[in-house]
Amino acid sequence: MIELKTPGEIDAIEAAGKVVGAVLTAVGEHAVPGTSPEELDAMAADLISAAGGEPTFLDYHPAFAPCPYPGVICASVNDAVVHAIPAAEPLRDGDLLSVDLAVHIDGWCADAAFSMVVGETADKIDVALIAATEAALAAGIAAAGPRARLGDIAGAIGAVGRASGFGMLADHGGHGLGRTMHEDPHVPNEGRPGRGLKLRPGLVLALEPMLIAGGTDDYRHDPDGWTLRTADGSRAAHAEHTIAITADGVRVLTAGRPGWR
Ligand code: MG
Repeated sequence: MIELKTPGEIDAIEAAGKVVGAVLTAVGEHAVPGTSPEELDAMAADLISAAGGEPTFLDYHPAFAPCPYPGVICASVNDAVVHAIPAAEPLRDGDLLSVDLAVHIDGWCADAAFSMVVGETADKIDVALIAATEAALAAGIAAAGPRARLGDIAGAIGAVGRASGFGMLADHGGHGLGRTMHEDPHVPNEGRPGRGLKLRPGLVLALEPMLIAGGTDDYRHDPDGWTLRTADGSRAAHAEHTIAITADGVRVLTAGRPGWR
């Protein structure tokens, strides 16, 4: 069932989105060589608590997972695409780090993610991969609006993602959200413009393309049941915003999320 949100509820989701943006910005600033994702996770927990929020991922236990999620952020390094549990191993110069975070404030949640290269030595392909992932997200946001359809968003994300020549996680995508992190509808990362659900004011969606440097779409799960890795060992990037469809267009509710370069 798709639940449309009132303007006041969209404001409440944006309040959660501001905390998501601020915490992701702080995580990005502290993601330097020698710091571990586990340390970043602890910092995020403190910042969310200080902001009066609750970390949405912590103890989240969907049917596919063998255990409740043990972290506050997902910190996916190099060939990890998404859902990586923050590791104790320190980050190294040149690592590609994707950080995903959702926060609840006063019963409403927002969700965002970004990718960056740690330290000073960024591989050109990593920079291009992150840029292409951000471009696919931007295209999805640009295609959304009160007169568009779900297929317009999916088609735009997929077209820009595929044009980059990188691989994509075509069977993963975005989602509705509000009181809970995952609501209808599913937002595919590929699709046909002009098809699918008509977007209406009050619809709140997380859009999240995931691109793979090696050019294939294949992935595998770690034994932990959570971490999703590229099958070919190449690096991956992830970019996500929570947006609201309004009568006038689109509002990005996690606008404070960092971009990179
Ligand atoms: Mg997310």
